[in-house]
Amino acid sequence: MKQPDEGYIKFNLNWDKKAFNFSDQDFSQINSTRKNLFETGLIGAYPDGIGFGNLSIRTEKNEFIISGSATGNFENLTKEHYSLVKDYDIHKNSVRCEGFSKASSESLSHAIIYESNPKVNAVIHVHHNDMWKKYLNHLPTTNKKAEFGTPEIALEIKKLANQSSGIIIMGGHREGIISYGKFLNEAEEIILKYFNKF
Ligand SMILES: [Zn+2]
Repeated sequence: MKQPDEGYIKFNLNWDKKAFNFSDQDFSQINSTRKNLFETGLIGAYPDGIGFGNLSIRTEKNEFIISGSATGNFENLTKEHYSLVKDYDIHKNSVRCEGFSKASSESLSHAIIYESNPKVNAVIHVHHNDMWKKYLNHLPTTNKKAEFGTPEIALEIKKLANQSSGIIIMGGHREGIISYGKFLNEAEEIILKYFNKF
């Protein structure tokens, strides 16, 4: 299904297309979780080819590595499919990144969680229609008036980024769900726990 709210809000990307420091250990960790989520269909692509879902880990320099834009179609990713987010500005809807893939505008949702909760080192964003409908307003949910790709949704996420549940339903981003944790496997367990519940 096409996401009418995705992709047309002006997003400013400052992209330095070059390799970044990406350890094999970090790569294997993030890529194996990404593969699990791809296999469940929580990350993937719609029939029209538009990809959805992404995941990230915080680095020692307080930057974060995120699966790149337009990678949802691929079962297996390489290091070149990831991007390092160096800097961002929520209010200007801008991101500065390095890597051979671009960081998507959804990176700002990840950024605001890292900024708001220093204990968080991993963030996962998936799309799932039934799961989204089931948990909308039952789990911590952002205001539906705050639409995808706007500073408003980031500020909504900020309010919810310190809950022990580790999950946020994006009220204004249909199908959108975020989980976060101290470690990536914790964020993965949270999203799979709710996914397996129905
Ligand atoms: Zn999304």
